[in-house]
Amino acid sequence: MKKVLILGGGGGGAILANLLPKEEFEVTVVDRDEYHVFQPGNLFIAFYGDSVEKYRRPIRSLLKPHVKLIRDEVTEVNLNDRKVKLKGDKSLEYDYIIIATGANLDFDAIEGNRELLESYGDFYSTLENAEKLYKTLKEMREGRFVIAIADPIYKCPPGPHKGAFLSSTLFERMGVDVDVVLALPFPHAYPSKTISDIIEPELEKRNIEVHTFFTVDSIDVEKKRIYSLEGEELEYTVATVIPPHEGPRYKVEPPEVKDDSNYLKIDKYTCLIEGFDDAYAIGDCTNA
Ligand SMILES: Cc1cc2nc3c(=O)[nH]c(=O)nc-3n(C[C@H](O)[C@H](O)[C@H](O)COP(=O)(O)OP(=O)(O)OC[C@H]3O[C@@H](n4cnc5c(N)ncnc54)[C@H](O)[C@@H]3O)c2cc1C
Repeated sequence: MKKVLILGGGGGGAILANLLPKEEFEVTVVDRDEYHVFQPGNLFIAFYGDSVEKYRRPIRSLLKPHVKLIRDEVTEVNLNDRKVKLKGDKSLEYDYIIIATGANLDFDAIEGNRELLESYGDFYSTLENAEKLYKTLKEMREGRFVIAIADPIYKCPPGPHKGAFLSSTLFERMGVDVDVVLALPFPHAYPSKTISDIIEPELEKRNIEVHTFFTVDSIDVEKKRIYSLEGEELEYTVATVIPPHEGPRYKVEPPEVKDDSNYLKIDKYTCLIEGFDDAYAIGDCTNA
């Protein structure tokens, strides 16, 4: 039987592992975490106060019994030799590999962003940080809650807008006078003009202040101001800046299969990694 190695038991890896026919493939999933996280749950924790437990499950419980699971961190993938190194010193071999280790969020790429995360939490990184953001927002009585995007390429394009609508509803329910501000690097309120045309009147109805052409450059946590590359500045009481994302940080051989942001370069119709016929990448770790 062909050995299939799936790196990552997130949305992409777990679904694929369960779909591959067990008569044809011996499937092994590797994940560094015990739990699978349902990332959209961040929104319901941060803006409704749902519990963290509701949005995570042991990865084992989501995989069919015939799928093997190894809990370890991938430290190197060698596509030429068909070998994967794990932190626990183990090394794995395969006939086919599927890389599905998601995107990494770089909170150190923008000055002040890590301090912002540590002070207020956020709704993109972890369920625990989403819980922290909910506690922060529940303390607000007035002022400005700013949601900004640092880079035009980020997961779930409508995520910041969902955050803006949901926080506006939260403040309304709390009966407090907090303005919600959305700052985006695009010419419209959404990357696509068609959706912008639908969403802009809704944002206006909710009195959500929208700043377009606002690409976050730096954050001054003392002055509580966010500066854009375009020269604008925004004052905040509480803010969250969705940081630049990147692909896998572990070493991949040959290095040219990664682009400048570490994303794996794939054929978007087959998900094959460029130059290979036995190596695929799916989901947020790819350039597609
Ligand atoms: C707030 C928010 C709202 C969203 N809403 C939606 C929505 O409504 N609809 C939608 O389609 N998508 C939504 N998304 C996006 C969606 O959650 C992601 O696109 C999806 O989870 C990507 O799946 P993935 O398998 O590529 O990566 P992930 O789900 O991120 O999984 C990656 C897995 O790889 C593991 N891993 C990473 N590095 C290593 C390593 N070195 N060694 C071992 N394991 C490793 C991780 O532990 C993780 O389990 C949302 C995201 C956010 C943040």
